[in-house]
Amino acid sequence: MRLKLHWQILIALALAVLVGRLSGVEGAVLGVKLYPVFEFLGTLFMNALKMIIVPLIISSIITGVSSVGGSQGLGRLGGKTVIFYMVTSLLAIVIGLVVVNALTPGIIGGEPAREVLGLSEQAANQVAEKVQGRTAADLTDVFISMVPPNIVLAAAEGQMLGLIFFSLLFGYFMTRIDKEAGDLLGRFWQGVADVMMGVTTLIMKFAPLGVFGLVAKTVAGIGPDQLDDLAVSLGTFTASVLLALAFHVLVTLPLLLFFVARVSPLAHFRAMMPALLTAFSTASSSATLPLTMECVRDNAKVSNRTASFVLPLGATVNMDGTALYECVAAMFIAQAYGLELTFVSQFTIVLVALLTSIGVAGIPAASLVAITIILATIGLPAEAIGLILAVDRILDMFRTSVNVFSDSCGAVLIAKTEGETEVLKAQADAA
Ligand code: ASP
Repeated sequence: MRLKLHWQILIALALAVLVGRLSGVEGAVLGVKLYPVFEFLGTLFMNALKMIIVPLIISSIITGVSSVGGSQGLGRLGGKTVIFYMVTSLLAIVIGLVVVNALTPGIIGGEPAREVLGLSEQAANQVAEKVQGRTAADLTDVFISMVPPNIVLAAAEGQMLGLIFFSLLFGYFMTRIDKEAGDLLGRFWQGVADVMMGVTTLIMKFAPLGVFGLVAKTVAGIGPDQLDDLAVSLGTFTASVLLALAFHVLVTLPLLLFFVARVSPLAHFRAMMPALLTAFSTASSSATLPLTMECVRDNAKVSNRTASFVLPLGATVNMDGTALYECVAAMFIAQAYGLELTFVSQFTIVLVALLTSIGVAGIPAASLVAITIILATIGLPAEAIGLILAVDRILDMFRTSVNVFSDSCGAVLIAKTEGETEVLKAQADAA
């Protein structure tokens, strides 16, 4: 019997940690350096996923919107989706805020931790590099990018918000044109969506290899200094983020699944495992979208209509883990700089974290840009973000899984409220 995909991925992940640790950047076997091999496997897998993102998002939103039909159904589904995404993101941020206030990771031995952590020049340069060329320079840019002046350029640059807006309009007006032309377009886009799902199934077969490459490369690249940072000076910060994320995934979202959607949270975790592990390895919700869709439709049995509307939107705008992280990170940096934050400033952080989490792209390290925006709003220099760079990648893996899990919970919950009866039924029966 073949091992289930999530077991294959899990084994690949464990192997990757082991091999990556042993090999480091320099390790070689029979004269062949391992690091480039990890990189090769990881990049190939990431590229394959990214390759199908644009057609997948466009076709599934267009078919999703046009199949919901009429502005009434669309309004209802859209309304529920927006409410779910806003509420869960807000809950996540508040959890982060409570944890960071309770554990005060930015204060070490009663003193602001800035000196202890030290911000080297090298780190400051790294910040400039990371932040440069990313989307969303400030808050208004987030909204401006929703209406792209050039749809082809938006696709080329991965401006998902713009693509989504265009696709929503396209899908909506498809239902308002002459029926014959509308049906033709409907069949065309449905075909594109189906083909993309076929390609996803193929790519998924290679997920264990890709995950191995991505994780081994990350682990191999972690230097002893970073490990030290992780364990000692940034330990409380890392712990705060992980604790808050864990609370959100293990308590808040399961409670919603159990009491509002009335499904078994455990069954849902099981259904989503391949997508969650891929999110963890790629640190990109956009790249994980194909797998998220496949798991939600094929394992959790959410209808095509709901999944293709809720998920592409969620992968871009609903980022609970990111929102939570932004809040904890900004608060941590403020504490480390000895900044007293009033209720009003904390409220501002919550609000800006919510808005920017909608705007940031589902790509690795995207939060960093948003955090610099928050820092600017509360009057701290952007370089201060250097304090958290050492641990950002690892935390990115966790928050991205949370982002993806929240999207999938949204799909299940909305499907149930739309009267879908098959959702997670087989899993519940089997359990
Ligand atoms: N990597 C995250 C994602 O793709 C975004 C972030 O928080 O950096 O969901």
